[in-house]
Amino acid sequence: MAHKMATVLGCIADDFTGATDLAGLLARSGVAVSLRIGVPDIPPTDTAAFEVIALKSRTAPVAEAVAETKAALAWLRAAGAQRFFWKYCSTFDSTSEGNIGPVAEGLMDELGAKQTVYCPAFPENGRSVFMGNLFVGQQPLAESPMKDHPLTPMNDSNLMRLLDPQTSQDVGLVNRLVVEQGVAAVKSELAALANKNCAHVVVDAVANSDLNTIATACQDMPLMTGGSALAMPLPQLYAEQGLFDLKAALSKHVAPGSPTLILSGSCSEMTNKQVDAYLKTGAPSFQLDPLALATDGVEPVLEWLSKQDLECAPLIYATATPESVKATQDRLGVKEAGEIVENALAACAIAARNAGARRFIVAGGESSGAVTKGLNVDALDIGPEIAPGVPWTFCISSGTRIALTLKSGNFGAETFFTDATAVLDAI
Ligand code: ADP
Repeated sequence: MAHKMATVLGCIADDFTGATDLAGLLARSGVAVSLRIGVPDIPPTDTAAFEVIALKSRTAPVAEAVAETKAALAWLRAAGAQRFFWKYCSTFDSTSEGNIGPVAEGLMDELGAKQTVYCPAFPENGRSVFMGNLFVGQQPLAESPMKDHPLTPMNDSNLMRLLDPQTSQDVGLVNRLVVEQGVAAVKSELAALANKNCAHVVVDAVANSDLNTIATACQDMPLMTGGSALAMPLPQLYAEQGLFDLKAALSKHVAPGSPTLILSGSCSEMTNKQVDAYLKTGAPSFQLDPLALATDGVEPVLEWLSKQDLECAPLIYATATPESVKATQDRLGVKEAGEIVENALAACAIAARNAGARRFIVAGGESSGAVTKGLNVDALDIGPEIAPGVPWTFCISSGTRIALTLKSGNFGAETFFTDATAVLDAI
């Protein structure tokens, strides 16, 4: 994974699948993007033009999240980056304490930045911001399923009101009517807000063209913040500015061999549909029952796996309906049930790699974290995109080159698992 190029943009994401989402959108430009899981403990030597560091800071205590993010910033600065992007969830997952605002302020302090923008819009995935209010599809955020999120319930849709208690400086808005007028209008509105000492500016966007306008207007800010989609135009813009040579930075991918394992630990509505669709193809499958795992351990599934032809891309899944998950959690406890499944998925991944699997398709954010850890992977090169925000990645797992795709719960089409294979076969 030798890139040997000074880093142009340093990105920090507050969770793992969010980082792959961002890295995938940056890589749409064709540019080499590298993703590090956590802050590397060695100084940067072979960095890519676009570097993303994945943290696990979304729901960490505020001081911890700020300190970790600053450590990531220091690494990216050492890699040569002078522009930075702070990526959080497109549903603005946070509490009145943080961590979106405090982390942004911490980064601004380090960078001497007087102002930054906030835009979680991701139009291709139905997230839009209008008059400072965030929508999920046609629902305001606070009426979407995010209102019931166990860790970061979102009970207000207004980003200025959400941000205000999280920041010490003023919060303002550049609304869609201004964005619609173009780059110059956005720049002058930001300057007018800066004159009023407004440090935190929410910017409306309902379409990719709005994001292009905002990214163009803000490309020279030391720090931009948002969902992944706001960063998408940046590689092209920086290449046009001459900050790096796009041709020299283009990535070249080689797919590893075809033996495949599919692991699903997500119980989201979309993953349930994806598992159903894949089962209908007649591919071999094993359903993990957390209660059985608690009593019998992982031996039965490892035994089953050892008999599978990995060319048939077997599926191992714990994916279940909300009622079934609830019943299991009542018996085992939420944390315990989650850990039992995650440990089993990681054990299956290791066994499959040792048996020759070279492609891994993983559904679920936490599940992806467990599998990557099990596979001993700490850096990923970003490959072609399977669905908006879900790329293939290439990495080294204990000396073996593998392809890995990590899908957060709600992403991907119903045919995601077969789509993933088709995308890799096509390169
Ligand atoms: P998502 O991205 O959809 O949120 P995650 O992998 O982050 O998916 O979270 C799903 C969590 O649910 C994981 O901790 C996983 O271990 C757990 N889990 C998966 N299947 C079951 C099940 N059948 N019963 C209880 N918990 C489960």
